[in-house]
This record gives sequence, C-alpha cells and structure tokens, in this order.
Amino acid sequence: MCHAGEIFLFDVDGTLTPPRQTMTREFTPSFDRLATEEIVYIVSGSDIKKIREQVPESALAKCQGIFGSSGNELWIDGVLVYGHEFAVPDSLLAQLKNWVIHSEYPDRRGKHVEYRPGMLNFSTVGRRASLADRRKYAQWDAESGERHRIADNIRANHPGLQVAIGGEISVDIYPAGWDKSQAVAYIKEHHPAIPINFFGDKTSKHGNDYSAVCALGETDRAFTVKDYKVTEKIINAFLEVKDDGR
Ligand SMILES: [Mg+2]
Repeated sequence: MCHAGEIFLFDVDGTLTPPRQTMTREFTPSFDRLATEEIVYIVSGSDIKKIREQVPESALAKCQGIFGSSGNELWIDGVLVYGHEFAVPDSLLAQLKNWVIHSEYPDRRGKHVEYRPGMLNFSTVGRRASLADRRKYAQWDAESGERHRIADNIRANHPGLQVAIGGEISVDIYPAGWDKSQAVAYIKEHHPAIPINFFGDKTSKHGNDYSAVCALGETDRAFTVKDYKVTEKIINAFLEVKDDGR
C-alpha cells in the first residue's frame, strides 16, 4: 500500500548506521517498511559506492532517490539523474601546489589533490598517508592549526568557494551551496506540497547536516539524532501510530 503522506530524508553515517558501518539487521525491516509506505530519500556525504556498502540494496531499492556526495549526484532506480562537476580554477590548483611545497609539515606521502563529485579534497601530507602518518599529521594540525589556515587562505582568495575541515588530514573545497541543501531543494521542487522530515546527526552550525536543516521550510521538521538507534526509535513510533490509526 502506498500511503505517501510524508517525506523522510535521512543522512546515512551516524543517522541510519553506526559511523562508517552498515545498517543493523534489526533496523532494516522498519526502514524497509517506511520506504515502502512513505516517500524516502537518502542524502550522504559519501559517494554511491560507499552508500551501497552501508545500506542494504533491498532498502536502497525502496527509496525514491539517493543523493550522494552531499547532493552533488542523484540516483533513482540505479540510474544517475544528475552529477555535478566542479570546474576547479587553475589559480586554486596553483595555490594548493604552493602550499604542499611550503608547508612546515615535514612529510609528504603523495596524492595531495583528489577530485570527487562536486568537490576537491586537499591534504598536505597526502591521501597515501598510512594510519600512523595520519595520526601524526592530525596531532600536528591540532597544534599548528594548519587546516584552518588553509581554509582561511582559500576563502580569502576565492570568495565563491567554501572549505570544510573533515576527517583527520584533509579539507573539502567546493562551490558555495554545493552541499546537502541541494537535496532539500530538489525534493521541494518535485514534491512542493508534502512536508519533509529530515534526520541528521550533525545538524549544528559546523556539521555536515546544517545546510540541509537551513534549507527546510516552515512546514518541514528537522530531527537531530544522537545515533541511528534514536532514528530507529522515531521510525518505529511513527509506524506504530500509523497502525493504531488504521
Ligand atoms: Mg552523519
């Protein structure tokens, strides 16, 4: 039965799954039922490959759409509906190259720039860094504040770009607005009259769900969840209320 009275939009990491892990076997049936009866979308900072590792294929197949790479790509029924390419300015690449040369950090492990859908990922130590390298850099960065300086530097030279500090060793660079707010904008355009329930674990100012929350309208609701267990509880409560109303 298709009820479809509400729209549910979920972050993945920390909201539907434990951090960097797969959806639990206990949670999957509730999620499946919700996605069958309501309009469910997923929005993740990861790309589609990583999302498929975290959420069972059966559950993904029931979703209306899957926004990968912070809304820079949309997949519906396994088909790529759109994908954004960030046209990286040469001046930015030159600036980053310069930073790798002149940084006071002693080690370089290669692969300093990585192209991802809708963004560029930059790291002084480089993405080939081992686990030990990463820890060493992260500790040095916490003391020296290098990544904050990189972010300030890029923002000053490229006012149209945003920089987010994520993970241990890198920063994400992307055009302003190329964030999870894109998922909310798409849904509003395609289902203008249906309220959105958004669930995220990083909804505060510097979190990667903040932009989605800011894009919500007055009739929409934002749920900040501590972990996937809270999401599971809210979904189960919603389904129980539905059963009672039958
Ligand atoms: Mg999250």
